[in-house]
Amino acid sequence: MKREKLLAANWKLNLPAEGIAAYCAAMRGRGAADPELVVSPPAPFVDALVNESKGAGTGFGVASQNTSQHDQGAFTGEVSARMIAGLGARYAILGHSERRTLFGESDEMIGQKLAKAFDAGLVPIFCIGESQETRDAGKTLAWLDAQVKTAMTTAARSFSRLVVAYEPIWAIGTGRNAKNPEIQEAHQAIAGMLEGLVPDDCTLSILYGGSVKADNAAEIASLSEVDGFLVGGASLVSASFLSIWGAMRR
Ligand code: PEP
Repeated sequence: MKREKLLAANWKLNLPAEGIAAYCAAMRGRGAADPELVVSPPAPFVDALVNESKGAGTGFGVASQNTSQHDQGAFTGEVSARMIAGLGARYAILGHSERRTLFGESDEMIGQKLAKAFDAGLVPIFCIGESQETRDAGKTLAWLDAQVKTAMTTAARSFSRLVVAYEPIWAIGTGRNAKNPEIQEAHQAIAGMLEGLVPDDCTLSILYGGSVKADNAAEIASLSEVDGFLVGGASLVSASFLSIWGAMRR
């Protein structure tokens, strides 16, 4: 398995105060392509972001924040992976903890969503992570293993690119990022869990997510098992998101 660096923004149900055009101009003006940047706007703005991502300057990838486990039918409010791919987006965040806890997504459902994303040619940014209670009980790795195995065996697809985001729930939006040894241990374990579930020629990125900011990014990025970040709050201002990107290049 080859590993690749990547930095992804998750705007959630927000738009940047500076405006989409100004934010994207800053992304394109960064002057280098590596590591790849991905921006995940709310679904109605995927089209605009895809167009902005191709303007003058260095391009970037676009992700949806969710896609359906269905292709079509009587599923009010859903958006399919094929529709998102048809807009020109390359990635889809799947299984974010907010989808799991607020919208009742199970590991099986996330596996079905992974399957549809792969079929549509999207690269999943597959999120996993434990609660504080699970960590306190010393069950983090077993929890992550169950999340990985159930979703990946439900998806049962062959693919050539996968992004996994390790996001401890207790670190998301709380200002409390995981400690370096906790991150390193989880990432190393996740890489092991994926062996046998991911094709040998697959390119993999294992991202950390949870209160990443410009001032803690360089230290976490220096961990050997960390390929990049999925960033919520600090991705809403292009300058702070780009300083995280700069920290990954040091
Ligand atoms: C996220 O929502 O994926 C996330 C990591 O959020 P934050 O960076 O705000 O903790």
